[in-house]
Amino acid sequence: ESPIAASIPAEGSGQDTSLRPKRMAEMVGQRDVIERLQIAISAAQKRVEPLGHILFDGPPGLGKTTFATVIPSEMGTTVQMANGAGLKAPKDLLPYLTNLSENSVLFIDEIHRVPKAVEEYLYTAMEDFRIDIVLGDGVSARTLNYELRPFTLIGATTRAGMLSAPLRDRFQIREHLGWYTRPELCEIVCRNSVKLDLPVDPDSAEVIAERSRSTPRLANNRLLWVRDYAQSKADGNVSAQICRDALDMIGIDPLGLDKQDRGYLDTLMRVFAGGPAGLEAIAHTMNVSSDTLEDEVEPFLLRSELILRTRRGRMATDKAYRHLKRTA
Ligand code: ADP
Repeated sequence: ESPIAASIPAEGSGQDTSLRPKRMAEMVGQRDVIERLQIAISAAQKRVEPLGHILFDGPPGLGKTTFATVIPSEMGTTVQMANGAGLKAPKDLLPYLTNLSENSVLFIDEIHRVPKAVEEYLYTAMEDFRIDIVLGDGVSARTLNYELRPFTLIGATTRAGMLSAPLRDRFQIREHLGWYTRPELCEIVCRNSVKLDLPVDPDSAEVIAERSRSTPRLANNRLLWVRDYAQSKADGNVSAQICRDALDMIGIDPLGLDKQDRGYLDTLMRVFAGGPAGLEAIAHTMNVSSDTLEDEVEPFLLRSELILRTRRGRMATDKAYRHLKRTA
């Protein structure tokens, strides 16, 4: 099994790649992040040096991979894509490092999943553009020093807290990607509807944006579903009502929650009497992994004040009971 094939980013349906912005100017929102990156890029170009290593953190679907692809295109360089989960042993990292061209980018998604033994190779690679490979073992072991071309590592993680301090400290630029506002999501929907050649009026864009959990990836997925629905049920015409009907049909409610989000709230309220309940217990009851809940479900529920994280566990709020039309 080739490490390159194994390291194609796992997240993202692949379906929305045509909607992915190709240049920084096409990106919506994240103005302050973009401004800081533009300064760093232009300074690196003036010095004819690689851009400093960059770490992006934030919930899935907010643009980490997009930044990792637009930054190299702004710099006129190439990018190799790897996934932390695919880098199981130092040898999995070698093809990427030796394939680097001068000032190119290596993107490691889910970098918090890189095992310690591989992480140590990253330290010298990042700091001195060098790797030291130990060949053989015992008395016949010898170290081979391998010079790398200067490069930029871009790491992405949904769990900044899980990175070790030595790795985190080797990133010169660290950016947190936050949730998108309603107008920003509307703009993404409108721009992408043009790319899809699907006329979408502002009211319809508003409905899709409202039900996208502040996340561009979900706005794109919802838009693609609305297109399918409109084409098969309404001769390709999109209206606010058609958007509501389409999204209702796949279980996306007016707050943008999907079945899994509501399943979480339902489990917390029904099985655990509103909490406090431990994440593992909720995950076992729902039969999903606690990582999925922690990365994909809880961040938005927390931000929407539908759940609380307390020292004793997760708790459902009054707002959650009202949303599911239940009494505590
Ligand atoms: P992450 O790597 O953080 O999980 P991605 O970068 O894959 O998220 O983003 C998912 C999709 O959302 C992209 O394919 C792109 O179409 C869209 N997207 C993300 N950020 C933006 C943005 N700032 N402007 C426009 N579209 C965006």
